[in-house]
Amino acid sequence: MTKQEVLQEAKELGVEFIHLQFTDLVGVMKNLSITIEQLEKALDGELMFDGSSIDGFVRIEESDMYLRPDLNTFVVFPWKPQVGKEARLICDIYNPDGTAFEGSPRQILKKIVKEAEDMGYTMFVGPECEFFLFEIGEDGAPTLKTHDNAGYFDLAPVDLGESARRDMVITLKEMGFEIEASHHEVAPGQHEIDFKYADALKAADDIMTFKMVVRTIAQRHGLHATFMPKPIFGINGSGMHINQSLFKDGENAFYDKNAKYQLSETAIQYTAGLIKHARSMAALTNPTVNSYKRLVPGYEAPVYIAWSPKNRSPLIRIPAKRGASTRVEMRNPDPSANPYLALAANLAAGLDGIKNNLQAPEPVFSNVYEMTADEKYDKDIESLPGTLIEAIEELKKDELMMKVLGDHAKVKYVGAKLREWNEYSTKVSQWELDQYLTSI
Ligand code: GLU
Ligand code: MG
Ligand code: MG
Repeated sequence: MTKQEVLQEAKELGVEFIHLQFTDLVGVMKNLSITIEQLEKALDGELMFDGSSIDGFVRIEESDMYLRPDLNTFVVFPWKPQVGKEARLICDIYNPDGTAFEGSPRQILKKIVKEAEDMGYTMFVGPECEFFLFEIGEDGAPTLKTHDNAGYFDLAPVDLGESARRDMVITLKEMGFEIEASHHEVAPGQHEIDFKYADALKAADDIMTFKMVVRTIAQRHGLHATFMPKPIFGINGSGMHINQSLFKDGENAFYDKNAKYQLSETAIQYTAGLIKHARSMAALTNPTVNSYKRLVPGYEAPVYIAWSPKNRSPLIRIPAKRGASTRVEMRNPDPSANPYLALAANLAAGLDGIKNNLQAPEPVFSNVYEMTADEKYDKDIESLPGTLIEAIEELKKDELMMKVLGDHAKVKYVGAKLREWNEYSTKVSQWELDQYLTSI
C-alpha cells in the first residue's frame, strides 16, 4: 500500500484511532495510539517515542526513537470498538540519525532475511500456534478451569470454547488471514488455529496479530486465552511448531524428486544446521522458565535432538507432503517465544548448515522416547536443554546466535533472561515444601 492509499482507506472506513505497534525484545507487543489527525505525520515516520521506557531498548541518555510504519500492515480491527473505528500499523524502529535500530527484533529478523535473499533464498513459514482457553473467576482473574471435556478433533456439543474459537477464526479472516485448520487439541481447553504460510517477516507479524486477536476475542467471550507453554502439569502443553522451507527462483529448494526421501541436499544441510544449533536456539524459541516444563517425554513435545521423515517423537519432523509443500517442521518452539527472534534463529541456523555444507545425522524411524539411554548415546542423540539457565549458557556460547542478536540485543536479552531465572530459582516452591518440610 502507498501512503495515500492508507490515508484514504482510513478516512473512508471512518477510522478514529490508529495503534502503532511494535514488539519488544521479550516478545511483548507495544502500542502507541494516535488519532486520525496524526496519521499522516506517523506515515512520514515522524512520530517519536521514549525508547528508554521499553524493555531492552535504549538508555535514558539516548532515548529518542522514531516509529516508521510498514504500510503493508495496515488493517482495521473488525471487532466492535468502544469509540470510533480502530486500525493498526506495525512499525520499525529508527534512530534519530535515520538508521534502523539494530536492537529491534523485527530488524534482527529483517537482517537475516536479507542475508538469505543475498544467497537467493526466501524463507516461508507456517506456524501452528496452540493455546488454552480458561474460565475467568468471580474476582476477574483467570482460573485453570476449562469449560469443555473434548479431545483432539472431537466434535463435542458446541461449548463456550468452541464458539470463541469460531469467532476467532471469523475475525482473523476479516483481517486477511487465510485459515487452514482450526481444531480442539489433545488437552481439555486446548485449541489450535493454523493459518497459511507466508514469508518469514509476514509470518512473524502474523503471529503477533494472531495472539492479539485470540486474546481479544477470548475476553469478549468471558474467557482467558493463554499462550503459556505448560499451564497444567500432567497434560499436554502448548507448542508453536514452525514449518519452514526455502524457495529459490520460485521453486521449493527442499524438494528433489530423485533424492532419498525426495529431500534435496539443501533440505538436509538446512536440517543439519537446525540440529547443530538446537540447544542454543532454545533460549530464543523456548524463552521462559515454564517452556522447559513442556519439553518432557510423554506429551507430544520434543526432548531429543533428532530428525525423522516420518514420526513425531523427535525435534524435527518432515511432514509427508512433497513438491511445493516440502518443509521441515521444528517442533520445540512454543508460543511464549518472540516470533521475530525465533524465526531469525531458525533461519540463521539453517543457512549455516547450507553455507558450511553440514551433514545431518541419520534420521530416526523409531519412537525416540522409547530408546534406551545406550541407544541414544550410540546414535549420538542429545537432549534439548532441561532448564532456562542451561539454554542461556548454550546461547552465550554460540557465536552465530550472538551475531544474529547483534551487540545491543545480545546483552539485553541474556541479561533479561538471567534476571528471570534468578528470580525463579530463589523462590521457594510448593513442591519443595511438600518434599522437605516434614521429612527433614
Ligand atoms: N501440544 C504438543 C506440543 O506441546 C503438540 C501436539 C501436536 O503434535 O500438534 O508440542
Ligand atoms: Mg497441534
Ligand atoms: Mg505440527
